[in-house]
Amino acid sequence: MSRLNSVIIATFLCCAGMTVSSAAQSLRALARVDMAESGVEDSRGTTTLSLSLTQAVPYRVQLLGNPMRVAIDFREVAFEPELQVLDRSDRVRQLRAGVIRNGWSRLVMELSEPMRVTSAGMTTDPQDGDAVIVLGLAGTTQNEFDAHVSADVAAVKAWSQDAVAIEARRQMIVVDPGHGGVDPGAQRGGVDEADLMLQFAKELREQLLRSGRYDVIMTREDDSFVSLPQRVTLARAAGADVFISLHADALAQGRATGTTIYTLSEDASDEASAILAERQDRTDILAGVDLTAQDDQIATVLMDLARRETAPRSDRLADALVGGLKNTLGKLHKRPRLEAGFSVLKAPDIPSVLIELGFMSSQTDLARLQDSEWRHQATTGIVDALDLWSLEDAAIAGRRQ
Ligand SMILES: [Zn+2]
Repeated sequence: MSRLNSVIIATFLCCAGMTVSSAAQSLRALARVDMAESGVEDSRGTTTLSLSLTQAVPYRVQLLGNPMRVAIDFREVAFEPELQVLDRSDRVRQLRAGVIRNGWSRLVMELSEPMRVTSAGMTTDPQDGDAVIVLGLAGTTQNEFDAHVSADVAAVKAWSQDAVAIEARRQMIVVDPGHGGVDPGAQRGGVDEADLMLQFAKELREQLLRSGRYDVIMTREDDSFVSLPQRVTLARAAGADVFISLHADALAQGRATGTTIYTLSEDASDEASAILAERQDRTDILAGVDLTAQDDQIATVLMDLARRETAPRSDRLADALVGGLKNTLGKLHKRPRLEAGFSVLKAPDIPSVLIELGFMSSQTDLARLQDSEWRHQATTGIVDALDLWSLEDAAIAGRRQ
């Protein structure tokens, strides 16, 4: 491990030490590896990584190529520098760890032969909160390995359900199907964006409710017009933890295709983004809604303060959505993470994102939006992303207090 990484980890330990106050708030602490209870071992055709941690953490697993590696990303784990002693496998060439970005560490197992992930799970001891992550690997062909590297399929499967259970409070998700009523949104091939988004929103609600981890309110349940400020007001009245707006607009120019996640910014990432945001506002103005009224009611300075807290939370949510959707859908838009001045994202205190699921101007996207299997993959990716984000958000909030 580089000296820089050691310094960064030491800093984390110091911060964690200051915020630990009780076992119940264990998410605030930095998890450490119990070296005596951890290791990588071979048995016949399989290899098992057992990692004993002082507490449950969000994590995910990916296969990386050139050289062949299994990478496990952990939130809030401090690794010992002498990690190599845990490697008792002939199939693992090297074991190392480092900080990949603020709060996230990566454990890398460099493989000497192609392997596939057969299982990934975390169990938590209800008494002391200790957690054990067990990752099962088995030999495979080079082709199979390469296929999994490009598809990045392992990641989503391994986001720990156990860790999610720690965050007991159910989150209120407000799902906002774009358009409706006098405003059909984009129209292609006899299909309205408003109808497609209502259908998608209902399926997303179903899956969120089935997880048992979320409550859901929709800004419209049928084909009726709801203004953009009304949608935000509904979200606040519902005590929303998260606001997700759903769209699949059409663009006259270019060949835009694939899913994009937007967060709020006064400066749009590109011209297409600016057009999309402006078009939504125009519909409201045509329907007689004054979009400036909202901002005048609250002192701008208070809104700015709230936004300063909320903006990074929205950004992390959007990043999680890019990851979650990429895992289930494969390819997204060539720039899947954009910003624009969408009025519906302007609640200063609610993490808000707008998902352009696809573009109705693209034949491929239009077919996907009407394909129930594709929609199921998309809703799965969104739920996975919310699971990961909620954990990350709780951990960060804990550290701030
Ligand atoms: Zn739209």
